[in-house]
Amino acid sequence: MTWPSASIARPIVEMRGVRRVFGTEPEVVALDEVDLTVRRGEFVAIVGRSGSGKSTLLNTLGLMDTPSAGAYHLDGHDTAALSAVHRAGLRGARLGFVFQAFHLVPSRSVTENVTMAGMYAGATRSSRRSAAIEVLERVGLGHRLDAAPSALSGGERQRVAIARALASRPALLLADEPTGNLDSATSDSMQALFFDINKKHGTTIVVVTHDVEFACRLPRIVSMKDGKIAADE
Ligand code: ADP
Ligand code: MG
Repeated sequence: MTWPSASIARPIVEMRGVRRVFGTEPEVVALDEVDLTVRRGEFVAIVGRSGSGKSTLLNTLGLMDTPSAGAYHLDGHDTAALSAVHRAGLRGARLGFVFQAFHLVPSRSVTENVTMAGMYAGATRSSRRSAAIEVLERVGLGHRLDAAPSALSGGERQRVAIARALASRPALLLADEPTGNLDSATSDSMQALFFDINKKHGTTIVVVTHDVEFACRLPRIVSMKDGKIAADE
């Protein structure tokens, strides 16, 4: 897939003055006046200490959490104005998630795990299956299609989780510590896969990572501190 140059520069994420406060007395300010713009095709790392607000930011980007104040526009949609149905629709159509815990369904095969995730309205079972197989081949799991998740290594499970996130062809892929549970060789190949997805398919990626080496290979690093963006370079 190629992207026309105008849309590379179009923002997919625009946050202005976003706050997220949890609880009362004491309240925890997890996001404090966050301004963030991410343009199509970018590959952005979010770094910062534990508790600095990285996951809250990612969950908010992913419409899994809602700002207490401020504005968040996703792909031109003012998310505060959306009904629950539209929100879910936008999430299904535009977003893919990869978490540190892979959340695979243990009783289903690799291919079924990916097929279940795709939001292919009206697509037939066989076309969903072939789309799942195509994306599994892309992540290097073409030889493990019928395996059970329990038969896979940690790196392979993470690849299934990535394939599942890609099944709906998201414009924005969000990943929270995707290499956190992987050994360094597996983590390297996972990073290469993310670079490939970003380059070849133009998928915008925002990844929370503790891995300094990984972050330093990315063109843009957003550093969080106490719920604020402390640096963006
Ligand atoms: P990070 O991912 O950088 O470790 P988080 O975004 O998970 O940070 O958390 C930021 C702050 O918000 C922390 O102080 C955390 O305890 C608090 N927090 C996060 N989620 C919740 C929640 N659901 N309820 C209460 N406090 C929360
Ligand atoms: Mg976190």
